[in-house]
Amino acid sequence: MTFKRIAIGGYLSTMFLILFCACGGNKSDEWTGVLLPVEEDSTDPHTHSQAATAVITHMNLDLSVDFKLKKLVGSVTYQIKHDKASEIILDTRGLKIQRVTLGEQESETSFNASTEDSIKGSALSIPLAPLTKIVKIYYETTENSNALQWLSPQQTADKVHPFLYTQGQPILTRTWIPTQDSPGIRFTYEATIRTLPNLLAVMSAENPRQKSANGVYTFKQANPVPAYLIALAVGDLQFAETGPRTGVYAEQSVLQAATSEFSDTDKMLNVAEKMYGTYNWGRYDLLVLPPSFPFGGMENPCLTFATPTILAGDKSLTTLVAHELAHSWSGNLVTNATWNDLWLNEGFTVYFERRIMEELYGLDFTEMLNLLTYNNLKSLITKMGNDNPDTRLKMDLAGRNPDDGLTRIPYDKGFFLLKSLEKLAGRKTFDAFLSQYFKDHAYQSIQTGQFILYAQEKLLKANKLEFDLTEWIYTTGLPADCPVPQSDRFEKVEKQSKAFVAKNDLKKIDSKAWSAQEWIHFIKILPRDLSAAHMENLDRSFNLSNSRNAEIQAVWYELAIYNGYSSNIQESISDFLIKVGRRKYLSPLYTALKETDQYELARSIYSKARPNYHSISQQTLDQMLDF
Ligand SMILES: [Zn+2]
Repeated sequence: MTFKRIAIGGYLSTMFLILFCACGGNKSDEWTGVLLPVEEDSTDPHTHSQAATAVITHMNLDLSVDFKLKKLVGSVTYQIKHDKASEIILDTRGLKIQRVTLGEQESETSFNASTEDSIKGSALSIPLAPLTKIVKIYYETTENSNALQWLSPQQTADKVHPFLYTQGQPILTRTWIPTQDSPGIRFTYEATIRTLPNLLAVMSAENPRQKSANGVYTFKQANPVPAYLIALAVGDLQFAETGPRTGVYAEQSVLQAATSEFSDTDKMLNVAEKMYGTYNWGRYDLLVLPPSFPFGGMENPCLTFATPTILAGDKSLTTLVAHELAHSWSGNLVTNATWNDLWLNEGFTVYFERRIMEELYGLDFTEMLNLLTYNNLKSLITKMGNDNPDTRLKMDLAGRNPDDGLTRIPYDKGFFLLKSLEKLAGRKTFDAFLSQYFKDHAYQSIQTGQFILYAQEKLLKANKLEFDLTEWIYTTGLPADCPVPQSDRFEKVEKQSKAFVAKNDLKKIDSKAWSAQEWIHFIKILPRDLSAAHMENLDRSFNLSNSRNAEIQAVWYELAIYNGYSSNIQESISDFLIKVGRRKYLSPLYTALKETDQYELARSIYSKARPNYHSISQQTLDQMLDF
């Protein structure tokens, strides 16, 4: 690996330093620089656009939603900035570009779309005149527009109207809008969406609360956002408030459950603001999607898209709301400049999420979440291999689909790095540092190296602290100084679990006051060679196979598959896999079926379930099950 030196302030006295230098504790009067890998300077490897030459500053989208033909048809107009550039380059994939015009007069121009790269898609080059400020592209989406999921009425909660939603992260926005699709490029946007009059359209912007008479909706996002945060959903949606600044969009049959599940959202927002500064996005609403949504949540500005699997009835899974809300600072306000720097987005968000949870639900509850995270991270690293390059926080995803980087590493290893810094600096100092960090980088997209320099200067040097940031960020595995969470509540669960396993005696379990997290831990630590009698005993008493809590269902089904108990509850497992499209649950369950020689069963369930999954989940499972 080669390195370059970046000066923080002083002069460089040493020409060739080979080691990474964590300079927070460096006592030298001469050396005030740190060494960073050369990759820090690299541009986003997942975009064709050359922002330094010509860049988008504002988007105006005008699309009609055609549910019959399953396509979006219309145009996108960009205001652009350049210094007499000869062309602007946009990313596109799976789009039919019809024509391109320049300027307010809409002068027709030629354009060139390169052959599609299997990951990046096609480079759309549009020639510019020296004074061109406006570029307009007429286009339509195709069946290869992978951001879009078109759901039949049968695939929705109410089963009457069709539904459409988009998922842009990481690089799918280019499959429904020709754009400069890099997290390092931000622009404001407006949009007009035309749909059927009985449907409501919502976006990652200021949103309508009621259906319009003609099915036409207009939107405005006044803060500059990267393309992956542009999102659209259209369906038979209703709105209900959960507080002065927060609310829920959902289908009629889900609305009430969602409103009560998310009733703490306003409190979360207030707590978050108190910790890290003003919420800059106006309202914070949640949209509950049909179960096919591939993620837990997506932090689309002003309107988080969420899976219905968090509607457990007891607010036990609303950590996810705290997470998506926290992204309003870490991610949406301060963004990773490339997908290699995803930890700057997700690691900070997990840390912030846990701080919100601690404030609202207490330290002992949060320590359970932290310990679950720690255990999952340890077993993930063991599974991936301690020297697997993908266990580094700073990733190298060039030439690969950035979706490969969406493991728990950037989230959870990133979280523990920040926990370590908090432990070192003390909470008060660390909070002040984070608030300033969000302020100083608001509406910017930054790389890992920039964070290191900033933290060296403003946190470590300023407080005379020593810490090896580079070990955490650039080496594989988990550093030995990773703080290990302690949970008394989990210790009690562990004792009871042991006692139960020894005697298959349910009296050893006192679960009356258990939270979902205690149940999850209890199930996760049960051995994988538990007798059928044990499994039956648990299931009969606690009805785990029919739990309302998707997290408990998922870990219980996984245990059942490994323990040879799944044939007893096969229908529950199949139903779950066919209904739910959240990849977090699908991957471990299909893996478990595969690893227990039930490959054909896995394929047969998948063949029924596949139409219900978004392309993101399909891609993972097609690979896993050779579809
Ligand atoms: Zn996140």
